[in-house]
Amino acid sequence: MNKIVVKFGGSSLANAEQFRKVGDIIRADQGRRYVVPSAPGKRFDGDTKVTDMLYACYDAAEQGVDFSNQLKAIKERFYEIIRGLSVELSLEEEFARIEKDFKEKAGREYAASRGEFLNGKVMAAYLKYEFIDSAEVICFHEDGSLDAETTNCLLSERLSGCENAVIPGFYGAQKDGKVRTFSRGGSDVTGSLVAKAICADMYENWTDVSGFLVTDPRIVKNPEVIETITYRELRELSYMGATVLHEDAIFPVRRQGIPINIRNTNRPEDKGTLIVESTCRKPKYTITGIAGKKGFCSINIEKSMMNSEIGFGRRVLQVFEDQGISFEHVPSGIDTFTVYVHQSEFEDKEQQVIAGLHRLVQPDFVEMESELALIAVVGRGMKSTRGTAGRIFSALAHANVNVKMIDQGSSELNIIIGVENRDFETAVRAIYDIFVTTQL
Ligand code: ASP
Repeated sequence: MNKIVVKFGGSSLANAEQFRKVGDIIRADQGRRYVVPSAPGKRFDGDTKVTDMLYACYDAAEQGVDFSNQLKAIKERFYEIIRGLSVELSLEEEFARIEKDFKEKAGREYAASRGEFLNGKVMAAYLKYEFIDSAEVICFHEDGSLDAETTNCLLSERLSGCENAVIPGFYGAQKDGKVRTFSRGGSDVTGSLVAKAICADMYENWTDVSGFLVTDPRIVKNPEVIETITYRELRELSYMGATVLHEDAIFPVRRQGIPINIRNTNRPEDKGTLIVESTCRKPKYTITGIAGKKGFCSINIEKSMMNSEIGFGRRVLQVFEDQGISFEHVPSGIDTFTVYVHQSEFEDKEQQVIAGLHRLVQPDFVEMESELALIAVVGRGMKSTRGTAGRIFSALAHANVNVKMIDQGSSELNIIIGVENRDFETAVRAIYDIFVTTQL
């Protein structure tokens, strides 16, 4: 029998109706033996996630303000689900403990973790699965980073004798028992750690979209779903702003060759997106995805004969390093060297950087431009296809977009294009149209 780890996000568990859908999904495949739930999310637009209610409640407790009503509202969220599912479960003891711990200022991370803890209890009672407190199996160092080795040992030991279990997402504990959490969205990480520990055949990550989209739906209406994506492609797209999965969820499963399947709880019939280490499956289109970000600056340094000055590039980058600014791209010409940086990191340090450049490389002149956007066109299919760059640039020319910078990674996995901020959306749409809509 397959071993599948299933993680459900907050919107998949926001109320009893969603819980029932989740129950049906789990029961539809006997391999779905290990369940990682998030805390209940938003039931409707404008609703508040339980995690955010917990943060606010704890902040009140810490300030010595009466938080009983806030805690009552949280309790009601869980009882609404319990009643709706008609399960026999009391959370009175748990809530009494939480109230006491809040009064004793047990910590914000402890507070936030209770959403997953309580939802795990509800889920275990509903499915009749064993409940495993993540504080016992997910270990953190005192600096808040994950103790991956201990976690893997504890999890695999504990789960080896366990047919079915619910392991709440998002939190764990230090050796001394202090509860710690991952950063927001961290239940994805828990799911990945569980999948690694049991050597799962698949890590299913259930959410409210039918997978990873080719591009941002706020820019292109109803973009296509990516059927299969490699971890490397995903990394490129996530780096440029596409989000579905927590970044730290990739590493544990990737190293074990375990695929991740992003699925939609509200449309379980959809196949979703399969994330794999490598594949010989031909991508549907030449490109896999398009992502991008606004808010970059370019610093163009000109100096005649710079090509024969050994160490020129290193000294330029030294100036940025000295100011603690990371660089994104460095396209260069014979007598020019350009550095792309995040505008927000650069703005306050602009003059120090200019002074540093004059001191270290004595440029002929330095020219700067702000309000630039970078677009990454990513796809493993580009390597074997001629004319991809040509098509991108003719599409951009037709859309009247001026291309400021071009950078093709040597892996031929991506082409990065720099445009003005105001052309960003038009450029993304033009690239999407040429590769997906018209399917050239
Ligand atoms: N409940 C936590 C959050 O809202 C963690 C998660 O859902 O993954 O960030």
